[in-house]
Amino acid sequence: MNNNVIVIGGGPAGLAAAGKLQDFGLDVVLVEKQPHIGGHLNKWYKVFPDFTDASEITANLTAGLGKTRILTNTNVTSIEGSAPNFLVTTSTGEKINASAILVSTGYKHFDATLKEEYGYGIYDNCITSVELDMMLKEKNVKTRDGKIPKKVAMIHCVGSRDEKVNNNYCSRVCCTNAIKVAIEVKEQNPDCQIFCLYMDIRVFGRGYEELYRTSQETHGIQFLRGRLSEASEKMDGSLLLRLEDTLTAKPMRLSVDLMVLMVGMEGNSELASVADLKLGCDRFYATAHQQYSNNHSHREGIFLGGAATGPKAIMESITDGRSAAAEIASFVAKNQRIINNGQVPSLV
Ligand SMILES: Cc1cc2nc3c(=O)[nH]c(=O)nc-3n(C[C@H](O)[C@H](O)[C@H](O)COP(=O)(O)OP(=O)(O)OC[C@H]3O[C@@H](n4cnc5c(N)ncnc54)[C@H](O)[C@@H]3O)c2cc1C
Ligand code: SF4
Repeated sequence: MNNNVIVIGGGPAGLAAAGKLQDFGLDVVLVEKQPHIGGHLNKWYKVFPDFTDASEITANLTAGLGKTRILTNTNVTSIEGSAPNFLVTTSTGEKINASAILVSTGYKHFDATLKEEYGYGIYDNCITSVELDMMLKEKNVKTRDGKIPKKVAMIHCVGSRDEKVNNNYCSRVCCTNAIKVAIEVKEQNPDCQIFCLYMDIRVFGRGYEELYRTSQETHGIQFLRGRLSEASEKMDGSLLLRLEDTLTAKPMRLSVDLMVLMVGMEGNSELASVADLKLGCDRFYATAHQQYSNNHSHREGIFLGGAATGPKAIMESITDGRSAAAEIASFVAKNQRIINNGQVPSLV
């Protein structure tokens, strides 16, 4: 048995896990399919709840990687053997022995074109929250024809809590993200009026509720409780939104220059067959037990961390990655003790 652990996915969860596994004295190989490590942090500007620059988080986690061997532009194509003697083959043809594997492959964004009634991909001034973060990073929040928007609507729950697209779960981060980006738009463009169209406001983390209050009291962001039924484009490129205000039970119309869809998180199941992993009904990876084995998969020696097992904020993903590292270190140590004592490792 060797001391190798393979971490698949170099987002905040995988980076945090790799750093801790190093500290535990294990040899870590980090496999990342993109050209750069950092995961979704590479797409974000400043992150909620405290507006930390996303690049600062990546730099902090990367500094802890020590001697971790990083393979970018690389996928895992097969996993043979069983715990604690896996043989992992990568897309470059390399074969690596590993005693344990961490799958921290994160999530995908909901494809906003599936909500046809909102007009994403059809109307120029309908964008996603991912695109808005890039505009904020470039300090260039403008309509498609280059004008500074006077009215902006943030549409909550796009692709989440929605039976029609088979995503019944709440993505957990988009309410606070909407509040964060609303404040940032207002800071970059103080004359802009901003409306958040929500079903319920779900701001559960430390500092999130305070951010929600600040957005209203300090920045004048307006919150309308109602679900958007349809958007249509006017001659000048602005958008007419039709919704029902569910507090007054009255239909409403709202004209805006820019509409931002707060897209939800979806499971990234691309390793399900390669690693023989089960999926939950939400199509994120299922854990061995939801209460007490949240970093274990159903397959011994293959662990799970971060948003691969469901929507999480950055801080939760980092903590979950480190928790997975602790489970792996204990698993490897236990197997080494068994081998040293001349016993055959149990696969139960
Ligand atoms: C619009 C939006 C805005 C957000 N803003 C915030 C915010 O302001 N604050 C906050 O706390 N949270 C925010 N989040 C949540 C945050 O993005 C996640 O918590 C975080 O990215 C999860 O980290 P992760 O490492 O689990 O996954 P990811 O960041 O998704 O990283 C996974 C990594 O695995 C790699 N990968 C995937 N598949 C493979 C494979 N088969 N082989 C090899 N590598 C693979 C990917 O390329 C990626 O690098 C936001 C989410 C959304 C949707
Ligand atoms: S966090 Fe808010 S916007 Fe996101 S799915 Fe949940 S309720 Fe909807």
